[in-house]
Amino acid sequence: MNKIFIVLIIASNLLCSSANAEAQIEKVSKIHQQIANSNVGIGAREAGSIKEKDTAKYISTAFKEMGLSTSEQEFSFGKDNLKSRNIIADTNPLLAKTIVLAAHYDSTAKNTGSLGATDNGAGLAAMLVIASTMSKKKVLEYNIRFIAFGAEEVGLQGSKYYVQQLSKNIEKRNEIIAMVNFDTIAGGDYIYVHSAHTTPYKCSLDNAQYNSDTNIREALLAASKKVLGEKNQYVIHPEYEGYPKGVTGSWSDHAPFACAGIPIAYVESTNFTINGKDGYDGYSQSIHPALWDCYDDKNKTACNRNTETKWGNIWHSQFDKIETLEQLFPNRVTKQLLDNINVMNTLLSDFYQFSK
Ligand SMILES: [Zn+2]
Repeated sequence: MNKIFIVLIIASNLLCSSANAEAQIEKVSKIHQQIANSNVGIGAREAGSIKEKDTAKYISTAFKEMGLSTSEQEFSFGKDNLKSRNIIADTNPLLAKTIVLAAHYDSTAKNTGSLGATDNGAGLAAMLVIASTMSKKKVLEYNIRFIAFGAEEVGLQGSKYYVQQLSKNIEKRNEIIAMVNFDTIAGGDYIYVHSAHTTPYKCSLDNAQYNSDTNIREALLAASKKVLGEKNQYVIHPEYEGYPKGVTGSWSDHAPFACAGIPIAYVESTNFTINGKDGYDGYSQSIHPALWDCYDDKNKTACNRNTETKWGNIWHSQFDKIETLEQLFPNRVTKQLLDNINVMNTLLSDFYQFSK
């Protein structure tokens, strides 16, 4: 082929992919604003509140507009019997194998100052964009189930309820070959992917068949390397006290799935190199000095560990707002959203290569 032709093809591909990226950024940012910006959209979405219910409606409408087979699962929780619901959408529920992508849609209460921009407006917005892309793909070898879980922040109520119901039907449970949890996938300094802890979680189900396989984590790592390159790919956290390399605890919606014998991966943006309040546990998400009373860059910790009160965390704090994060980290959240969307779309498109 003529060299000029090759150059033209490469140039038009580049133009096309950057136009695509622009369109994706616009799409995900708009959804993110509608979920987490209280001036133009919903804002804080505490479990059991009207705002949480409004968010459920928003999600359900979005899934239906994509033409996905959509259902709702209502449950009650807590001593006041508050109501919440999971919103579930399938691309092709008749297929024998299912991969789950999940994101919780509630946020912490208003009194934390958080509007749930990254925890978990980011995960939810990305999931909706991925659902929109996957709803248009006609030929896939497996069903993709998108689940927006309610009431995560008050003890994983939605995911626990979902897995309880699922476990009543072994066949249905066995259809699920992997689960990916998007919880706080933007905001922090790095994007990590974890697998379930090698020591089983405290599982509430009697028939627990705990699963700590790393196959879905490794597939996400590979997809991220393919999409983002070696330098920018997802990372797995180093070993720290009580946690071998790359494994995570039971504090989010992946835990009930691991308990039910399903391999999980959990995508989370944070920073495990910081010596935070309780050590190197990843709870401190960023070294940005605005998130600390005084940050000691040399020792990667608070200047005075005994007296300081701000520990570099965004989640559950007044920093978890779209506008605030944009001021502190220009373009970071949108870039991380786009990266996560591209990685997950690639994983879902390539999935047959590693599915059992
Ligand atoms: Zn969360």
